Amino acid sequence: MNGHCGLNAAAKVGKVRQARERLYRIEGIVLKRQDFGEADRVLTLLTPDRGKLRAVAKGVRRTTSRKAGHIELFSQSHLLLAKGRTMDVITQAQAVNLFRALHDDLLRFTYASYMAELVDKFLEEEDAQEDVYLLLRGGLEALGETQGESSLALLTRFFELRLLSLVGFQPSLFACANCGQPLDAVDQYFSATAGGALCPACRTSQRDALPLTLNALKVLRFLQTRDYPQVRSLVLSADVHRELERLLLRYLTQVLERHLKSPEFLELVRGVNPVAG
Ligand SMILES: [Zn+2]
Repeated sequence: MNGHCGLNAAAKVGKVRQARERLYRIEGIVLKRQDFGEADRVLTLLTPDRGKLRAVAKGVRRTTSRKAGHIELFSQSHLLLAKGRTMDVITQAQAVNLFRALHDDLLRFTYASYMAELVDKFLEEEDAQEDVYLLLRGGLEALGETQGESSLALLTRFFELRLLSLVGFQPSLFACANCGQPLDAVDQYFSATAGGALCPACRTSQRDALPLTLNALKVLRFLQTRDYPQVRSLVLSADVHRELERLLLRYLTQVLERHLKSPEFLELVRGVNPVAG
């Protein structure tokens, strides 16, 4: 081997090493997809160890793209990314779970979109929270196996409460959010601004206080403290379903201080599929 060849080989090794350093592997769930340029998409991904991140998938809107089928909405995939100047680029994708059952049913799809949107809104980029990742993955799996509006709604209420706890906004359900006294077994009130249930004596302390029935309070406590296998067998009346949905939506909106799009979409779908009495 002459000196010339040796130099070339060294340069080659250097290049390969450089390319390797620019590449990294992640596991992620696709939270959101936006069309970008002529044939690209920007994906918002949730990962267990890097939190939320955005990356571009080039050419995936072309019918010939091999990656496209592995990075559908909600897909859980193994991805190889290359560091880019403004945004990282997805160079390989291999789906682990496509959650097909969520795409075959409009109602499930809507609930899955809502879960993904909540997670997207609650997490900042690069804010790694593995338990939120596991919650979303479990939530999507459970949605795919759940049928019927009331079961889907119950699962979603469980998801909302668990997410709120994980991101540090667990509502107070055992003691009054205003005076701190333990709550008696009677109808109470709820204030999103106070951060939870209010005892009857404190109802006038918050302008946004709403009545909270004892039944709904019991269900909220159950959802907050039990695991899903215990929760899934609950059967609730349509009134309690409505009360819980309204209350949690108000609380979530207050916490996020932003307007959520998905609940409006849920209302729209509900017009077609009313909650069974
Ligand atoms: Zn009180």
